[in-house]
Amino acid sequence: MQVLKFGGSSVANAANINKVISIVRKAGEKNRVVLIVSALGGITDLLLNSAALAAAGDESFREQLNLLESRHLSTVQQLIPVARQSSVLSAVKTQCNEIEDICNGIFLLRELSAVTRDRVVSFGELLSSRIISSALTENGIANTWKDARDLIITDSHFGNAKVDFDNTNRQIQKFFADSKAALFVLPGFIAANASKLTTTLGRGGSDYTASIFAAALNAEILEIWTDVSGIMTADPNLVSSARIIPAISYQEAMELSHFGAKVIYPPTIQPVLKKNIPVRVKNTFAASDPRTLIDHSAQSNGNIIRGISSINRIALLGLEGSGMVGIPGISKRLFEAIANAQINVIMITQGSSEHSICVAIEEAHAAKAKQFIDEAFAAEIASDQIDPLIVETALSVVAVVGDHMKNHPGISGKMFGALGRNGVNVRAIAQGSSERNISAVIYQADVKKAINVLHEEFFETSYKQLNLFVAGAGNVGSRLLEQLLNQRTYLYNHLRLQVRVAGLANSKRMIFNENGISLDNWKNELTMGEPMDIEHFLTDIPSKNLRNSIFVDVTANGELAMSYDKLLAKSIGVVACNKVACSSSFEYYKQLKDLAREYSVPFLFETNVGAGLPVIGTLNDLLRSGDRVNRIQAVLSGTLNFVFNNYDGKTSFAKVVWQAQQEGYTEPDPRLDLGGTDVMRKIMILARETGEQMEMNDISNTSFMPASCMTGTVDDFYQEMEKEEAHFKKIYQAAADAGNKLKFVATYENGKASVGLQQIPSQHDFYHLYGKDNVVLFYTDRYPEQPLVVKGAGAGAEVTASGVFADIIRASRI
Ligand code: ADP
Ligand code: ASP
Ligand code: MG
Repeated sequence: MQVLKFGGSSVANAANINKVISIVRKAGEKNRVVLIVSALGGITDLLLNSAALAAAGDESFREQLNLLESRHLSTVQQLIPVARQSSVLSAVKTQCNEIEDICNGIFLLRELSAVTRDRVVSFGELLSSRIISSALTENGIANTWKDARDLIITDSHFGNAKVDFDNTNRQIQKFFADSKAALFVLPGFIAANASKLTTTLGRGGSDYTASIFAAALNAEILEIWTDVSGIMTADPNLVSSARIIPAISYQEAMELSHFGAKVIYPPTIQPVLKKNIPVRVKNTFAASDPRTLIDHSAQSNGNIIRGISSINRIALLGLEGSGMVGIPGISKRLFEAIANAQINVIMITQGSSEHSICVAIEEAHAAKAKQFIDEAFAAEIASDQIDPLIVETALSVVAVVGDHMKNHPGISGKMFGALGRNGVNVRAIAQGSSERNISAVIYQADVKKAINVLHEEFFETSYKQLNLFVAGAGNVGSRLLEQLLNQRTYLYNHLRLQVRVAGLANSKRMIFNENGISLDNWKNELTMGEPMDIEHFLTDIPSKNLRNSIFVDVTANGELAMSYDKLLAKSIGVVACNKVACSSSFEYYKQLKDLAREYSVPFLFETNVGAGLPVIGTLNDLLRSGDRVNRIQAVLSGTLNFVFNNYDGKTSFAKVVWQAQQEGYTEPDPRLDLGGTDVMRKIMILARETGEQMEMNDISNTSFMPASCMTGTVDDFYQEMEKEEAHFKKIYQAAADAGNKLKFVATYENGKASVGLQQIPSQHDFYHLYGKDNVVLFYTDRYPEQPLVVKGAGAGAEVTASGVFADIIRASRI
């Protein structure tokens, strides 16, 4: 015997039912078949809604019932030729009239009992199974229709009845022993109590019906046919990269379904597990797709965990108080109260201090639970030994599940590390001693992010998604976007990174797109964006609640820089080429570093010094490996290097500076370069990275710029430089006469930093430094005489963008 169950979407309309018929025909060629069907997709909800409307005195229940009737009638009309429709149509009409009569009764009495609700809702499966049985006959497939209520006996817990297996198994076995039919068609979900009143097995219960029949009949296989090609590593509605689990153990399937994997109704596994009957989960709409096999032999498939699931609308009950410590029987009384309230417990945690017990239940039962528990502990609450029950709602449970987690250290570390890095606050944790499941209670608003983060963390074939929010779309920003576009395939294939720009702004406009802004059309999209509002842009980043979010600052904007603290504290990583933050007060710099550490998020700013050159990275590597930096000597201004490499007294100094600005080497305000401020910032950032508590006014700057050039506007600056040409020429000539070159040098030694123009003789490391190059010499304990040298292009949009790009990739690994 084979038991096949088809769910609501598999039988939603005539076209789908025809697919079911061909699957059943094929199965019938192998062996006898028991076919269990759900109601037509959406009908159970419709029936429940109609009954609820009627009870509320809302006449619109009639419209609902009209809809119900027309859906079933049109399904019959499409499945069965006109000549033979009439008997089926009249059977459907009779049942629809019966539903209407009951609903009228509910409407008149304004009362809907659980008994009546089950009666109403049972018509969904009664109708569908009748129609499908007739359609099979019409297709030449002989079958016997049987009402499941005659065979499955339950208690009187209407809506979620418990099965009396002894009687049920006996009835089923007797009925099948007495019949020779090759195909049986039965409604899922419905049953009856000992007094023959209709009961139901809980939402999604048709799976359970099928399992009950499979176990009672010792079937060779139970097939659950649905609208996905098997049990997946996570809910495909939440995780786009979820994939089919080819093989899974009964216990794993049970855990996943109990913790929310809707594809199988949780009680389904137990009956088939006891009889060791394999279960296949298959797709009605892609019958030849690989499927999931649930049985005893599921092997490890290289992943430590098998799947991830979640349940929403959870409430956490917290019983706390000093009067609980060391007192036996408290938990007994707590769980007794919950049981008396007929509430199911989903998760339990208790700290070893015994000062509190936490219980997760369905949110809908929270008020009832509080009433029962506060009553049970009324005496202790009155004497302040125990606090009134604390109830928190809008929570979810996420669970990672896998048989092979047992004895594998580091899984919870991995799980909570990944959640933590993404700012997902964990309210309670539970791990059973079977080590097959680790569950965490989190805020419901974080579920999608959490499940995706865990999926990326645990399934190697999963792609890690980075969500970038980029501020600045000028020289550097546009190159960065171009590089991201060009490297997209490489990142995907080689680094398993899916990099998306979820937000983009320039000084005028901003746009957001949670699915990723198109990188080949961002310019157009940005011009149509809303006006840029820094505050709005920054608050939107955490509120989008996307996983692996990184704010990328390619501006020189002070307001943005002074907001990094708020982002980091919300677990948003920051990658900046903007130097304002790291060169503001030491206190703020330190606060940002501390926040990044505290929230385990990246704060990276390699391009603050030497553009794309690995200056800060090299320094950090030296320090991390225990080396000590004794002196740093550096030429850190691409602009000044370019200017002094190109200025020879023939073209005016102002014109050479202008050229540097045109080539994109200068800061937006070139006076920051010419006056040495930019170099001061850079040497200060390097000094701070070594641990030095340095401020800008601790640095001595012997500027070569006449004071007159440094006031007024940028235009004034260029005009004043023209006027001062003689001054610049004199500096140049003095160096040239001595055979030296001019370099603006930054030095850090013995806790002191200084910057200034120096004449560099031909034998010096700095002499052969061309174009806009930077060079940094690190004199350390390990490199005492011959310094460690980092040298290369130290300015320019392309290299700066690639440095930011490298930081983004680095950030993805933190
Ligand atoms: P049926 O009506 O056939 O019983 P259900 O709607 O009850 O189907 O269950 C199938 C649905 O379960 C899928 O369409 C999918 O959206 C959802 N689902 C949730 N978690 C998972 C998972 N881990 N694997 C597969 N499907 C899942
Ligand atoms: N029709 C019922 C429901 O929607 C049972 C099922 O489909 O499994 O819950
Ligand atoms: Mg289902």
